[in-house]
Amino acid sequence: NREWHLLSRPVGWPKSEDFALVEAEIPTPREGQVLVRNEYLSVDPYMRGRMSAAKSYVAPFELGKVMQGAAVGEVVESNAEGIAVGDHVLHFLGWREYAATDAKNVVKVDPDAAPLSTYLGVLGMTGLTAYAGLLRTASFKEGDSVFVSGAAGAVGSQVGQIAKLKGASRVIGSAGSDEKVKLLVEEYGFDAAFNYKNGPVGEQLRAAAPDGVDVYFDNVGGDHLEAAIGSLNQGGRIAICGMISVYNSTEPVPGPKNLARLIQTRGRIEGFLVGDHYDLQPEFVAEVGPWVASGALKHRETVVEGIENNLEAFLGQLRGDNTGKMIVKL
Ligand code: NDP
Repeated sequence: NREWHLLSRPVGWPKSEDFALVEAEIPTPREGQVLVRNEYLSVDPYMRGRMSAAKSYVAPFELGKVMQGAAVGEVVESNAEGIAVGDHVLHFLGWREYAATDAKNVVKVDPDAAPLSTYLGVLGMTGLTAYAGLLRTASFKEGDSVFVSGAAGAVGSQVGQIAKLKGASRVIGSAGSDEKVKLLVEEYGFDAAFNYKNGPVGEQLRAAAPDGVDVYFDNVGGDHLEAAIGSLNQGGRIAICGMISVYNSTEPVPGPKNLARLIQTRGRIEGFLVGDHYDLQPEFVAEVGPWVASGALKHRETVVEGIENNLEAFLGQLRGDNTGKMIVKL
């Protein structure tokens, strides 16, 4: 049973010396617990925050201990009522091969209804983030023009497509490579997309959205947020989902210089956390599940194999190696 420990809190970009892959005993499930053999592990940008000591909405990872994250696996031993050996479950003890946990901490998932990895992505946390952030936080309505950053990633790719399926007048995405930009337009049906590395974001956004944007779904922060405020229409809404451009910054990052534009536009900026929106889960699954099944909503996964590559998958996601959800397959 190999598991990833955090040895020291990274300063700036995490380095391999900050972590160790450790050989541990396979845990024994106690009364009321199950033992799960993990099959798919999620790596997510928010994990960078948990590697720091800063107080946040979840506790920091503990030094010298195994890290955590979403995972899906098969129950191989059960001391809990209602969960049988052979069942598949979603739980939060990732970064390891085997996990013993209380039955109340797992949710059964059906491998026949959808591929197991999708419970970590398009039908899981990142899918719900897109759904809740767009529809609830940004109050998306038919006819809105929508700009989303990180648009080829797990959350962003769903935001753009849900907006299109729900009648957006125009959907614009930004991503970090020309291949990703091509995918957004040719496969996901975005109306326009640009590579933010090819020139100033503000200029590229003005060219892609000449009539401005009603909704900006922010995964990135920094120049992207400032550009979106600059292009915001009257009554525009900005949902702050993530700010991946600053997660490895060692100095406080200056905010947008054009906030006064929110007065003119009566614009609204609001941050949100998916954890507050799980009441939308049934509606999300009912609406998005059939779109995924029919292919109306497309999704990609970048799958990295082996527990030994879990850290590299996490770092790769911060660098933009992934298209769609980054998954580790054991
Ligand atoms: P992604 O699949 O989007 O992976 C991260 C992507 O970020 C990379 O692929 C990379 O793509 C892009 N990126 C990295 N550095 C930069 C940069 N400096 N500028 C612009 N883009 C960059 O991850 P997720 O979909 O899981 O998460 C997307 C965002 O949503 C993150 O900010 C995350 O923290 C946030 N989030 C927030 C939640 C909430 O509850 N509020 C819940 C889930 C996620 P590229 O090649 O395009 O640069």
